Amino acid sequence: MKVVVNWSLCDGNGNCAAAAPEIFALDDDDQLQVLQESFGEELRAKAEAAVRSCPKNALSLSD
Ligand code: SF4
Repeated sequence: MKVVVNWSLCDGNGNCAAAAPEIFALDDDDQLQVLQESFGEELRAKAEAAVRSCPKNALSLSD
């Protein structure tokens, strides 16, 4: 599965990185980094939690 970021909505608050640190991180300037755009089923639950945690609705998943 894949994660898609709507970069125009993201404000770098880091909720997604807290929910799924295997997929997301913030850099030193609080810019979101996607560590792995595509990942396996084992990270589905964390990826879905990250999507739910985003206050900007900037994240979506596709299979
Ligand atoms: S939770 Fe949403 S707004 Fe916050 S860093 Fe992640 S994608 Fe950006």
